[in-house]
Amino acid sequence: MPAQKTLSIIKPDAVASRVIGQIIARFEQNGLELLRAELRSIDRDTAKAFYAEHAEKPFFGELIDYITSGPAVVAVVAGEDAVALHRKLMGATNPKDAEPGTIRADFAKSLTENAIHGSDSVESAKREIAIFFPAAAKEEGFLDF
Ligand code: UDP
Ligand code: MG
Repeated sequence: MPAQKTLSIIKPDAVASRVIGQIIARFEQNGLELLRAELRSIDRDTAKAFYAEHAEKPFFGELIDYITSGPAVVAVVAGEDAVALHRKLMGATNPKDAEPGTIRADFAKSLTENAIHGSDSVESAKREIAIFFPAAAKEEGFLDF
């Protein structure tokens, strides 16, 4: 079985804070590698599809405004147990609850502007990779993990 993959987004607040390099260094120092990475502004339709599970939440509008507010790094990150390992490196959703040394503890600005996204399961990773990297997702074997 090829290495597991996860969809990682270095969100607009972290790009604006110029900590892209520090975040990617943490992936690499922990045995994860970048398979795809692109700096791009996420459009509102893509953002709404990506965050569809939160469409009914009170913070949805604010979340869509934020994630589309400036360039983000959208990436496919791979390695053993990549989904869970990447989530561990991220820390808790609310940076106030995030363990010291996690990306959110160190770089997030608030509960909404929390520096990073990572898929929460293998199933989510496949769905999210197909949204952001449709050409790669069609390559033979890319979503076989
Ligand atoms: N979020 C927010 N308010 C909340 C909960 C979440 O603005 O009360 C934002 C935050 O940016 C979070 C994203 O919505 O990362 C998705 O929420 P989820 O619960 O899926 O957290 P995650 O999987 O990113 O840790
Ligand atoms: Mg989530």
